[in-house]
Amino acid sequence: MVQYITHSAAETRSLGLAFGKQLLPNSVVCFYGDLGAGKTTFIKGLAEGVLGVPEEEVNSPTFTYLNIYKGIKTLYHFDLYRLHSVDEFLGMGFDEMFDAGGVCCIEWAEKLFSLELPNAIRVEMAHLGNETRSIEII
Ligand code: ADP
Ligand code: MG
Repeated sequence: MVQYITHSAAETRSLGLAFGKQLLPNSVVCFYGDLGAGKTTFIKGLAEGVLGVPEEEVNSPTFTYLNIYKGIKTLYHFDLYRLHSVDEFLGMGFDEMFDAGGVCCIEWAEKLFSLELPNAIRVEMAHLGNETRSIEII
């Protein structure tokens, strides 16, 4: 486990970028943390690292569950805040994205509690103050 403390959104984004550059194909990264903890901010940086170019469109795909961005590698960005069940996730064939050769980022990954994701990387984010966040990578 590694813990980082960031003091601005820009710092979280840079951390995401450095992290994203290191990710191999078929990485699954599960994000945990309250609304506003900085998950999407981190993923904006991560997207740049995975795709090789900045991707300003990255936002929580709140109404679609999944956004797909293509670059050097493909980024599958899930936001499962509104997901009803693990069966709904599986019914849409989303688990096929885990080994499709790209990188998967999952916001609100706790919704997939009953799925075995043995190789997933956990990123746990928490508010420490207005602009201070704790980011643990496990
Ligand atoms: P989440 O996806 O976890 O709901 P977002 O990344 O969408 O969170 O929002 C985080 C909000 O907090 C943004 O408005 C961002 O500008 C702000 N913020 C302030 N400080 C930080 C920080 N250190 N890291 C990340 N976001 C921060
Ligand atoms: Mg978000």
